[in-house]
Amino acid sequence: MEQVESKGLRRELRSVEPQPGPYLRHEDKQYLHFSGNDYFGLRADPRVTAAAAEAAARYGAGSGASRLVTGNHPCYEKLESSLATYKQRESALVFGSGYLANIGTIAALVDEKDLIIADKLVHACMLDGAILSGAELKRFAHNDVSHLAKLLDEHRGKYRHCLLLTESIFSMDGDRAPLLAIAALAKAHDSWLMVDDAHGLGFVDTIPADIVSGTLSKGLGSYGGYVAASKALTDYLTTHARSLVFSTALPPASVAAATEALQILTSEPERSARVSGYGNRLTSEWGGPCMEGPIVPLVLGSNAAALEASERLKEKGIWITAIRPPTVPQGTARLRITFSASHTQEQVDRLISALQPLRAGV
Ligand SMILES: *Cc1c(COP(=O)(O)O)cnc(C)c1O
Repeated sequence: MEQVESKGLRRELRSVEPQPGPYLRHEDKQYLHFSGNDYFGLRADPRVTAAAAEAAARYGAGSGASRLVTGNHPCYEKLESSLATYKQRESALVFGSGYLANIGTIAALVDEKDLIIADKLVHACMLDGAILSGAELKRFAHNDVSHLAKLLDEHRGKYRHCLLLTESIFSMDGDRAPLLAIAALAKAHDSWLMVDDAHGLGFVDTIPADIVSGTLSKGLGSYGGYVAASKALTDYLTTHARSLVFSTALPPASVAAATEALQILTSEPERSARVSGYGNRLTSEWGGPCMEGPIVPLVLGSNAAALEASERLKEKGIWITAIRPPTVPQGTARLRITFSASHTQEQVDRLISALQPLRAGV
């Protein structure tokens, strides 16, 4: 722990109390935060919390068993059919979390005879799934389609199946994957493409992939994860995904909350437009590229610089957690700024002026 401390890598669980809107309390002080993943402001929407309360009163606090035993409450079917429709897939399968959906799916699809090629920046849980699967794992440079093509040319032929992994909108960088080009390569090389849509839901309309995974815990403001794909694939996973078979089903309240949140997101598309509008406001202020999503990184480099910047903002009543390795690559510690439909224009203005001096130092 001393070594961790000296590298600026100690992680702490700081106690925070959520407040109405994009605020939290920490040690008796109130902060405006730009650090959460509740992109559409649905986590505390009264319609969503009412759906959760009703499901808990009706079915109980916990689900009581794995979905394959007695945990498959009626609310699951409704959520899975809404997710399948929303993601334009034949079928969807809900897991205990996004982490469990990714590790369970990847480990069920490939093994030692197979190859996985993943974007350098995919989320830790996709990599954990790859390790669990036992397949050979190769990485292509972030969003670099020609590097991916080269790896496929060199290695695809030596393996039985090949699975390509990327994200729709990257969790720590906020940029989009070139999905059409990657899907074309997958097709040309007889490979499957799996895209983690944890941060793209509501922002990226169509995902050209065999498998889409995601979470109910971010934009949908609840908890849980899912995979959307062909019916054959979700059938296969129902038997083979160990994180589904051997883990208790989500509580009914989480399932009902996510179903209601998805319904609201579909009928109120202005929520998503507002969030991308905020992101673009910030990047245009900085002369940067259009982000088309909820996440804007301010890369500061060293861990100390990122921690220091986060402290400076706290003094101004703004909470943005410093993100350090191994969540991001060495030397790219950053502030990960996220916007939510629950932010107002004035709050975003306040953020932009508070970031000005930090940005000037980059
Ligand atoms: C958060 C996240 C996950 C995990 O989802 P949980 O529901 O929080 O377990 C998976 N993939 C990406 C890209 C994420 O950011």
